[in-house]
Amino acid sequence: MTTTNQIASHLLRSRIGKLCVAITGVTADELIEKATSVLKETTFLEFRLDYLAKPAAALPQLKEFLAANGAATVVATCRCKENGGRFAASITAALDVLMKAAEAGFQIVDIELESIEKLPKTTMEHLRNAGAAVIISHHDFHATKDLDGIYKRIEPFAPDFIKVVPTAKSLSDNLTLMRFLERMEDHSKSSIVGICMGEPGIISRVLGLRAGSAFTFAAANAGEETAPGQITARTLIETYRIEQVDAATKVYGVAGNPIGSSLSPLMMNTAFRRETVNAVYLALQTSKADDLFKLAKEIPIQGLSVTMPLKEEIIPLLERTDPLSAKIGAVNTVLRAQDGKFYGFNTDVAGIVGPLERRLSLKGAKVLVLGAGGAARAAVFGCRDKGAEVWILNRTPETAQKLARQAGAKTIKREAVAKTDFDVIINATPIGMTGQKAAQLLGPEDLTARIVFDLVYNPIETPLLKMAKQKGLTAISGVEMFVQQGARQFEIWTGKPAPEEEMLRVVLHSLKQSAEAAGEVSAPVLPPAVAHVEASAPAKPEPVAKPAAPAKVEAKAPPAKAVPLKAASKPVKQAPKPVPTSVKKAVPAKKAPAKVVAKKKSR
Ligand code: NAP
Repeated sequence: MTTTNQIASHLLRSRIGKLCVAITGVTADELIEKATSVLKETTFLEFRLDYLAKPAAALPQLKEFLAANGAATVVATCRCKENGGRFAASITAALDVLMKAAEAGFQIVDIELESIEKLPKTTMEHLRNAGAAVIISHHDFHATKDLDGIYKRIEPFAPDFIKVVPTAKSLSDNLTLMRFLERMEDHSKSSIVGICMGEPGIISRVLGLRAGSAFTFAAANAGEETAPGQITARTLIETYRIEQVDAATKVYGVAGNPIGSSLSPLMMNTAFRRETVNAVYLALQTSKADDLFKLAKEIPIQGLSVTMPLKEEIIPLLERTDPLSAKIGAVNTVLRAQDGKFYGFNTDVAGIVGPLERRLSLKGAKVLVLGAGGAARAAVFGCRDKGAEVWILNRTPETAQKLARQAGAKTIKREAVAKTDFDVIINATPIGMTGQKAAQLLGPEDLTARIVFDLVYNPIETPLLKMAKQKGLTAISGVEMFVQQGARQFEIWTGKPAPEEEMLRVVLHSLKQSAEAAGEVSAPVLPPAVAHVEASAPAKPEPVAKPAAPAKVEAKAPPAKAVPLKAASKPVKQAPKPVPTSVKKAVPAKKAPAKVVAKKKSR
């Protein structure tokens, strides 16, 4: 690279932001319309010229756009089909488009490694002479492997940016990429851009930046993703606060599979922002507890929400669980404490018991629980713990009988429900969930209770809740459970009261938006119970005692043993958290409670 080019390249790097928004369109008009809208929020764009029906023909119009928008920095990409793009012609034809794009005013062109290796040696020089900085990119749509080998192939071309984009098949693949980025940050003369594609790679789109990636890519709008796992610019900016993520940012996440449509990242990141906690909460897609823990130890992750299918599987990997989680045999919350070890809790119980106790005393109350899976276990043990009499109705009677034995509850036959008076009916099956076609378990004649609580939260108002409202009963939406269990997690992790109202607001807003997008005639009506919470929940509720609020600092625990990633190992502003008292009260470590519980496996 010549000195003039080096200066130009340096100036360019100082002008681009952390986020490059990929713009697609079949026509120049479509590209320009979308770009004009995105420019209001961010000035660094990538035009995917390979999506255009006639890329070369569109360039005069795009030249006018670039001239009229001097603040924009725009990458031209014309990826060939053989390299995962949409450009159907030869690599020479693609190069011709990129040359013309550079002449038209695009500041950066992106060319694939596989193309430039086949083109004449003078290609880099020609592109530079046309006035553009160069990204050489490599995409692996199958795996994360041999990143150093790819780097070695790109390095001799001395581009301004080296872009390495593998596919994450596991959470651990993100570690491979981030370690690579850290090594290259000190070593490489070119700026490095690194992202893992795929749902398990979402974490790299946020944390890759602090590991050394020069920038990351985002989609302009949902449905316009140019790579698997890509997130919209708005989500990265507003939910993940990507511009603020730095070495001191604590990392939390929700782990399970599937996780793509989880509302937890929206809800928890909103809570962190609202309470000005320097933390980011990510979607961690995995079905394997050991994959999760490898990542959690190395990043290091400070806290986890755990969902299906990991709620039981993670128990043997924890240092200890609180007594309630041990009894239920399921953990939905993990805290990394001051000693660097992982402790387990179950806030699903608080998410069920809390909303009920706002409306009645559970002591002596008669409760019917539909289902005998994970959520039902939390409901049954939680209600029993508060002194309620509990009946269980489940599709598989044996599972119901086992749970009833464990929790001191009873089972009931379907035909006996209408003849029995209950105070509360809780649905802990997926029936009623959006997309679930199974018939309702109960009819109006079976709703012989004052309160019906449907743990399903999407839709907000399920058929069961509609039925309950029509009978004049109190209906509680699963949204309340969702927000309550999340609020308790927030308190366990931060020691601060959770901003419940704000958490509820964003969840309701998102559910209504999805319902509207799915073509529902009108937005779902808020059940009175949810409206009640919305209206009456205090902005700063008392942190729920109990297993939640981290209490006094445990006598000096040893520092975390995990080897953090370089960026994460820089000084962290917030003090590490203590081990909550409820865990301290749990069976002493020497008795290895978590392991004992796991071996006993109560389900
Ligand atoms: P799970 O462990 O898979 O248990 C599902 C239960 O539903 C099992 O008892 C199963 O019966 C029963 N079931 C499933 N399909 C059925 C059908 N077609 N007809 C009759 N019974 C059926 O799931 P989970 O974790 O307990 O979750 C259950 C539901 O609770 C979820 O779908 C979710 O909507 C809700 N939930 C909500 C929250 C929240 O925050 N609001 C949190 C967790 C769960 P078998 O034993 O016969 O298989």
